[in-house]
Amino acid sequence: MSIFRSPAFSSLARARAAFPRSAARTATRSLSTTRYLRSDVAPSSLHTFTEEEEMLREAVQRFATDVVEPKVREMDEKENMDPEIVKGLFEQGLMGIEIDADYGGANSSFMSAIIAIEELAKVDPSVSVMCDVHNTLVNTILKKYGNKEQQDKFLPMLAQTSVGSFCLSETGSGSDAFALQTRARKDGDNFIINGSKMWITNSYEADVFLIFATVDPSKGYKGITCFIATKDMGIQIAKKEQKLGIKASSTCTLSFDDMKIPKENMIGEEGKGYKIAIEILNEGRIGIAAQMIGLAQGAFNKSVPYTYQRQQFGQPIGTFQGMSFQIARAAIDIESARLLTYNAARRKEEGKSFAKEAAMAKYWASVVAQRVSGEAIEWAGGVGFTRETGIEKYWRDSKIGAIYEGTSNIQLQTIAKHIQKEYS
Ligand SMILES: Cc1cc2nc3c(=O)[nH]c(=O)nc-3n(C[C@H](O)[C@H](O)[C@H](O)COP(=O)(O)OP(=O)(O)OC[C@H]3O[C@@H](n4cnc5c(N)ncnc54)[C@H](O)[C@@H]3O)c2cc1C
Repeated sequence: MSIFRSPAFSSLARARAAFPRSAARTATRSLSTTRYLRSDVAPSSLHTFTEEEEMLREAVQRFATDVVEPKVREMDEKENMDPEIVKGLFEQGLMGIEIDADYGGANSSFMSAIIAIEELAKVDPSVSVMCDVHNTLVNTILKKYGNKEQQDKFLPMLAQTSVGSFCLSETGSGSDAFALQTRARKDGDNFIINGSKMWITNSYEADVFLIFATVDPSKGYKGITCFIATKDMGIQIAKKEQKLGIKASSTCTLSFDDMKIPKENMIGEEGKGYKIAIEILNEGRIGIAAQMIGLAQGAFNKSVPYTYQRQQFGQPIGTFQGMSFQIARAAIDIESARLLTYNAARRKEEGKSFAKEAAMAKYWASVVAQRVSGEAIEWAGGVGFTRETGIEKYWRDSKIGAIYEGTSNIQLQTIAKHIQKEYS
């Protein structure tokens, strides 16, 4: 049963239903993200959550521990996402977190998505990134830029049955994403798409694909347009990558050979693909930051208890000052990355600027994830180096945080641009 339809969530929903629609909206907000932001309420710590968010965290923790955890090692070794996990994510309501209830979604907040991504990553960063890309990139684009017909058609699918993927990168365009070569040619009531995409997360499981292609190359990046396609339109998976980490998450090369997309599947206006991608990736980066803090915490949670059991020189290894200080520093690192991430998420919800904060959160969370997961292996000694404990997997999985949705250098570039603007 969907987490959002559990009896506890239902009683919150009933309380809202007792109000007329406009009042209900205010009540929803007061139960949700802006309650403590009202001017008559004292500011709170970044660990202040709504009742709904707290309940969601607990429910996702349960799902991750009971359903995901038993399959993590097998999925990693087989380099495959278990279809039961995908089904479970939909059943739990975790693939339509911000989608309206009318479309079968949970009608919840951005922070709820961040919490879900963080909690899933504590157990498996691969499952986490599936949920992340689907919610923070694909669903958000449809919600924000899709027209009514597109929303009516695709949001119920995305909330309930169909995995989505975000197709921007190509062989020749990674950091320089808008140098893309995929072309969309107008042909009567259709666009004909030719080209290929590389590194596309979720694409092996996906039915819905958001594809960025250039309609008018003479306009440069202003010719880039976003289209929505379904697999049956002729999307071919040319290659599934074998990777260092997040092995259960699919990453494929796709090719489009005279693929017909009806013109009503163009998202937003022609030439607006650049703006859509930039805006959405700013939000998406907060999701990757959440994945990385969850990952760091997961590695920490697995290794630290062992240090208080394992005895050397007649005492638990975790009580040696050399060890305990490393553990303390790692806890500070995780908390600092978490606060940056929550701050960026809350700023987004408040409608404040958040691009710099999102870049800072993603940059720092990926540094922390790599550092903490590496140390967690060392704290467990030889045992940490084996695949049996699962600690080494966090370290392998951490590396991607500095690469996708903008490399660490690209995050630094974004932050530096903001600083330059503020100070010159
Ligand atoms: C597992 C995985 C999943 C992915 N999922 C998706 C997805 O779902 N959808 C999608 O569209 N893409 C996806 N990507 C693509 C990802 O976003 C790109 O790999 C990333 O943007 C980097 O591009 P690149 O690999 O071409 O590296 P490059 O751009 O070639 O960068 C190589 C190095 O050069 C540095 N560099 C480049 N330009 C500059 C500069 N101006 N200043 C300083 N340093 C610079 C980079 O920081 C990096 O260290 C995924 C990638 C991976 C590996």
